[in-house]
Order: sequence, then C-alpha cells, then structure tokens
Amino acid sequence: VRKGKTPEEVVKKYLQKVKSPPEEDCTICMEPLGGPSGYKGPGVGPVSRAESVGRLAQCGHQYHFQCLVAMYNNGNKDGSLQCPTCKTIYGVKTGNQPAGKMEYHVIPHSLPGHPDCKTIRIIYNIPPGIQGLEHPNPGKPFTARGFPRHCYLPDSDKGRKVLRLLLVAWDRRLIFSVGTSSTTGESDTVIWNEVHHKTEFGSNLTGHGFPDPGHLDNVLEELRAQGITEDDGLM
Ligand code: NAD
Ligand code: ZN
Ligand code: ZN
Repeated sequence: VRKGKTPEEVVKKYLQKVKSPPEEDCTICMEPLGGPSGYKGPGVGPVSRAESVGRLAQCGHQYHFQCLVAMYNNGNKDGSLQCPTCKTIYGVKTGNQPAGKMEYHVIPHSLPGHPDCKTIRIIYNIPPGIQGLEHPNPGKPFTARGFPRHCYLPDSDKGRKVLRLLLVAWDRRLIFSVGTSSTTGESDTVIWNEVHHKTEFGSNLTGHGFPDPGHLDNVLEELRAQGITEDDGLM
C-alpha cells in the first residue's frame, strides 16, 4: 500500500505461472492446490483459473494465489513477502519497530572471552507512544520499559560486521517490535524482535552476557532470517 501497489500486484511480482498444479495441498489453507483456495475472507474476489496457483520464483514453493494475498494482507504490507515454508524473503523485509534512536561508541574495556579487543556499546532508546496501523492494537498506547537499553559487542572484525548489519536492521525497523513481553507478560509494550542482543557487560548472570563463543555467528544467522546478509553491510 505504501508503495502504491495493491496486495495482488505485490504478490504477482514474485510469482511464476503454474499451468497444472501438482496434486498437493496448499500449506497455507491445507486445501488441494487443484481446487479453490480455502481462504474466504473480506475482499477476496474471484480469480481466473489461470492464476489460481503460483510458484514463488526463487524457492519454487507453490500456493493458492489468494492464500498468498491473504497472508500478505495479514502482515505489515511493506511490499515484501516471505515464503511460509522455507522463509525465503522476496523484496526487502521491514518490521514495526517504533520511532527511537540507536547510538554506539567504543569503550576501552574487554568483554569476557574477548581479551584482545575493546568493546562496542550500543544504546537503544525508544519512548512510549501510540500504536500505529502496523501494531497489534492501533490507536492504543504502548509502554517502553528499561530504556535506554545498553548492548555490547566485541570491537573485533566480526563484531564490527555485526554492528553494520544491526544498523541496517534498525533502519528496517527489525530490532524491536510491539507486543507481549515473554519476560514480564506485559502486553502493548516494546519488546526485542528476533535478533539477540547481549545486555550484560562483565559477567553472564542473566544468560544475556559474555562469554558466549557462538554469539556473533548466532546473530548473523538471526539477521539472515530477517533478510539481512553481509552484502547489506557493504554500504
Ligand atoms: P521478551 O522478554 O519478550 O523477550 C524477547 C527476546 O529478548 C527473547 O529472545 C529473550 O531471550 C530476549 N531477552 C529477554 N531479556 C533480555 C535481556 N535482559 N537482554 C537481552 N535479551 C533479552 O523481550 P523484552 O520484554 O523486550 O525483554 C525483557 C528485558 O527488557 C528485561 O530483561 C530487561 O532488560 C528489559 N526490561 C526492563 C524493564 C524495567 O522496568 N527496567 C521492564 C521490562 C523489560
Ligand atoms: Zn491455499
Ligand atoms: Zn519457499
């Protein structure tokens, strides 16, 4: 919508035509691909037989056209689409992180497990506000607890690479989200999205600290799942 394309146009852009659908079920609606979409919702119009099933161009997974449109409509409609089977991302995925600030600087101390380098400290600050259309309860306030949140990375080559990709993730609104905190149970609040951060500096009492030898690779993997790869850090 934001990019001036209808949901149907967005979905069509990523699809190839399928002449004869395979004898399989659509994994979105669980109905056979040879029959109509099981999705019956508002705004679902009739589609011609020729475009009732499509194949996602990159990964090859097939779905009812209307099921993909319904899935797109349930998301934040940013012009991107993610295959529900293999998670391949078409277009640029963005999130619903509220407005705020991300800052970072180097501090002259070493993290446990990284004795040979200094430390990057990232400071995220997000104030409370009112939920937008992209949030669970538009028009309702959301809270923002524990900000500014301080996070740490080793100031190594790999740590700096992760930082570059986190800056991309921030611009794409993928670091935080609005929802229910699994730690506190509070709803309508700012929560971490699916990219793990280390918020403890000198020890690891919370499990969100150092040492943690796999941390940087885990974060790179989590960023990849959001569609952010090393190519994105080369700007
Ligand atoms: P959440 O509890 O819904 O968890 C989402 C993800 O963030 C999970 O993967 C979880 O492992 C991770 N996570 C949880 N606690 C973390 C932490 N301390 N450091 C790094 N990652 C963490 O997400 P949330 O509600 O955004 O996170 C809870 C954390 O937020 C608290 O531990 C605290 O640091 C902060 N917080 C502070 C206050 C406060 O009043 N000071 C209130 C609420 C939350
Ligand atoms: Zn379907
Ligand atoms: Zn796929």
